[in-house]
Amino acid sequence: MIIGILKEIKIEENRVSMTPSGVEVMKQNNHKVLVEKHAGIGSGFEDSDYEKAGAEIIDGPKEIFKRADMVMHVKEPQPLEYDLIRKDQIVFTYLHLAAEEKLTHALIKSNSVSIAYETIQKADKSLPLLTPMSEVAGRMAIQQGAKYLEMPQGGQGVLLGGVTGVKPANVVILGAGVVGVNAAKMACGLGAMVYLLDINIDRLRYLNDVMPANCFILMSSPAAIRDLAEKADLLVGAVLIPGAKAPKLMTKDIVKTMKKGSVIVDVAIDQGGCCETSKPTTHSNPVYLVDGVLHYCVTNMPGAVAKTSTIALTNATLPYAVEIANKGWKKSMKENSEIKAGANVINGKITFQGVSDALGLGY
Ligand code: NAD
Repeated sequence: MIIGILKEIKIEENRVSMTPSGVEVMKQNNHKVLVEKHAGIGSGFEDSDYEKAGAEIIDGPKEIFKRADMVMHVKEPQPLEYDLIRKDQIVFTYLHLAAEEKLTHALIKSNSVSIAYETIQKADKSLPLLTPMSEVAGRMAIQQGAKYLEMPQGGQGVLLGGVTGVKPANVVILGAGVVGVNAAKMACGLGAMVYLLDINIDRLRYLNDVMPANCFILMSSPAAIRDLAEKADLLVGAVLIPGAKAPKLMTKDIVKTMKKGSVIVDVAIDQGGCCETSKPTTHSNPVYLVDGVLHYCVTNMPGAVAKTSTIALTNATLPYAVEIANKGWKKSMKENSEIKAGANVINGKITFQGVSDALGLGY
């Protein structure tokens, strides 16, 4: 199969959908890889790295769409690319079609085979191509929180771990899923007092066994959140109710009780955020103040650490891409239910119920 690796054109996106090491694996599986010129630059990979791995460098997306049997992106195809997608071409990338009506119509019109990273699902219901980005965002939440607690950044001037004779900061994390646990690990490592809350009792029981002694595992409730918010130096929003908007656990009134110069990092902002006071921000303008509390609500946090994110993402996507390339989309979907769950639009028809429900289109 011919695989096309496109350069990301979405604003502030520096990741790339395959590393040179991924190209080498594709070559070992007897596939040809076309890589758009400069596609890897934002992630630290030169065109010459891809050439050494056996790729052919192509100037511009048109020839890639023309020649490739499968095109890969990180972000969803952009309007400039809609008319380039061909009949029967496999499009393998994050699509988020429930929020992308125009793109959905373009994919229906193209008669392509569109497989979304975000709906590939394992038997235990986990989403293996979302997990690595949640790991990145969780770890980054503490890094950003620590930075904005510094006075020159507008924070109250508190060091997360304290020092000898000085109490460490209180870090409250709402949601103990992938984001929450990764945030907790970082904050614990820095020596903060960490309060990790969830509503899933089995999860709490497990975490109680494995997390370090400075991590307090608590059942989430409005009373617990009210109590902890007023003591928090840093609060991380990491809740998710699959397929729904994030619950507004932090009301405006609770935010008002937080210390001046404390920080909220609402990672769940891509699902609307779990604070009533949260609104989406960007890497170029990441924070704003409400009642003296700094809010960091960047919707694509992994984009800021593109080198780490690219490698984490491609570690997870490559085995699926190889299987699709080796077997073709029909056989791979027949034999692997995880890939089948990724099918969103095939030959002019929506094949993922969540997308048709969200857009009110046929299924
Ligand atoms: P996850 O499913 O692994 O974890 C979510 C956790 O929230 C679950 O353990 C669930 O039990 C818990 N939860 C649900 N309701 C709760 C409540 N009322 N109180 C406390 N906990 C509750 O999800 P995840 O992968 O950790 O992702 C969390 C959020 O972060 C998602 O909205 C995801 O889209 C988002 N995210 C954002 C970025 C970004 O760049 N901003 C990047 C990655 C992920």
